[in-house]
Amino acid sequence: MELADLRAKIRDIKNFPTEGILFKDITTLLKDGPAFRFVIEHLAERYRHERVEIVVGIESRGFIFGGALAASLNAGFVPVRKLGKLPGKTIEVEYELEYGRDALAVHEDAIRSGQRVLAVDDLLATGGTMAATLRLIEQLGGRVIGVTFLIELAFLHGRDKLKNYPLHSLIVYD
Ligand code: AMP
Repeated sequence: MELADLRAKIRDIKNFPTEGILFKDITTLLKDGPAFRFVIEHLAERYRHERVEIVVGIESRGFIFGGALAASLNAGFVPVRKLGKLPGKTIEVEYELEYGRDALAVHEDAIRSGQRVLAVDDLLATGGTMAATLRLIEQLGGRVIGVTFLIELAFLHGRDKLKNYPLHSLIVYD
């Protein structure tokens, strides 16, 4: 398995969820055992010596990679979710979408001050979702030691919103 093989396992779906969007469907990669394992091992290797204490995954595809990565790094996993899903006391953040606004939440006791946090999502597009997530992490006192994605759509320049953080993506579309 190589990175080029992984790229071939991601399926493009035109006009989903709305007209004009080219959706990167990762379910075709996930159902392939060696491909999924390759992703997790590759990411885990990169962060193995960073003393990650908490992996934060963003709903919902970030949970798939974040959970597996946390287990591999012997770190805890913390979900960042849409509003109204988490049962305990939360802190929340609003952020801009292309059209309108959205919000994310995390349990207020999910991260202790000073903990070393790695944030994970499946895909970086405009960067708004991850930037909002990093605000939540830092509000709880977490130290963001890395930000990682399976896929980066570089032509949307999401990286510019995250330039104060070490950022890595496995597969980049220019
Ligand atoms: P953004 O906040 O613009 O960086 O969007 C990132 C979030 O939207 C991620 O959680 C992605 O799963 C999802 N997303 C955005 N664009 C796409 C796309 N073209 N294909 C698949 N997922 C996408």
